[in-house]
Amino acid sequence: MTKTKETVLEISLAALEHNYHFLKAKLNPKTKFLGVVKAFAYGSDACKIAKKLSGLGIDYLAVAYTKEGVELRNAGITTPILVLHPQASNFKTIIDNHLEPSLYSISILTEFQKVLKEKKIQEYPIHIKFNTGLNRLGFSDSVISVLLAKINACSSLKIKSVFSHLAASDDLEDEEFTNKQIKAFLSIKTKVDSEIDYQPMYHLLNTSGILNYPEAQFNMVRSGIGLYGYSNSPAIDKKLKPVATLKTIISQKHTLQKGESLGYNRAFIATNETITATLPIGHADGIGRQYGQGRSFVLVNGKKAPIIGNVCMDMIMIDVTKIDCNEGDEVLIFGLDSSAEEFANTANTISYELLTSISSRVKREIKP
Ligand SMILES: *Cc1c(COP(=O)(O)O)cnc(C)c1O
Repeated sequence: MTKTKETVLEISLAALEHNYHFLKAKLNPKTKFLGVVKAFAYGSDACKIAKKLSGLGIDYLAVAYTKEGVELRNAGITTPILVLHPQASNFKTIIDNHLEPSLYSISILTEFQKVLKEKKIQEYPIHIKFNTGLNRLGFSDSVISVLLAKINACSSLKIKSVFSHLAASDDLEDEEFTNKQIKAFLSIKTKVDSEIDYQPMYHLLNTSGILNYPEAQFNMVRSGIGLYGYSNSPAIDKKLKPVATLKTIISQKHTLQKGESLGYNRAFIATNETITATLPIGHADGIGRQYGQGRSFVLVNGKKAPIIGNVCMDMIMIDVTKIDCNEGDEVLIFGLDSSAEEFANTANTISYELLTSISSRVKREIKP
């Protein structure tokens, strides 16, 4: 890794490629792969990640919102894109950009059919989302017949896939619950197959589903966090490579005498002579206040330095009393050798939240 001169989020496309092949190797050769690139590809760079994944031959991409899909189309991505959570007000944009909506209620389905009718469009690709226990978004299995009758009644829609989402695929203590979800999905598949005369794809698994329930891979899987280098298990994490590495530098060092305070609200008081280093990254960059007051640490020349005092908007201060370091030295917040999951855990959160919180103010540096 090259030495940085400012705060950067390095994005390794080689790590992404490694993770993609690692996850694909867990699947049957025929199972299709959908890469989830919502939320700026988990805080990295959606266009660069989507381009790389498309180049690797990924079958599908997914975003949460329409706007995210439009950005990918504007960047020249031609891979099919599933929009997981569209709203009726986005439907014209969805169609104009060849995006494929997930439809999750009769009212949203009706709205979409209305727009297709106005535009005189036939067989538009859609994805049907069922709720099997997450209770977040999706049709209930009790409406299958009504739903399919509505779809079969006109030729405006073509069901590309039918899917659902697991609530606790990462937690083996909830194995019984997950198996119930898998069973419910199987019975939905049987009903749907009996009421339409073509074969849509079926998919259920996210990253930890791929790792823990590969028997439920159906025709496709949807992976996000695994592609970015994290999973639900430390053993698997060792085999994945973090795509994002957040680095910064030491802007200035200070020596506090016993009794002197540091930062806003004097949240840190030196009990002994303390050497501190100020870093150009703060809560506006995505390192929230919950990481401060000694709870989390960063790596300076390979050594752990706690974040002390209150995290400021643009800066944090660390304790480097016992670390040989100078102004200008590089500081690793998370990445290779310092897991984002562990850093997130120190502040009672998870890698998903930490990664997607790194704000647009932090420069992204793409490494091939
Ligand atoms: C975000 C999301 C995923 C990806 O989950 P990971 O745990 O990151 O692999 C898959 N499916 C749906 C419906 C999602 O919202």
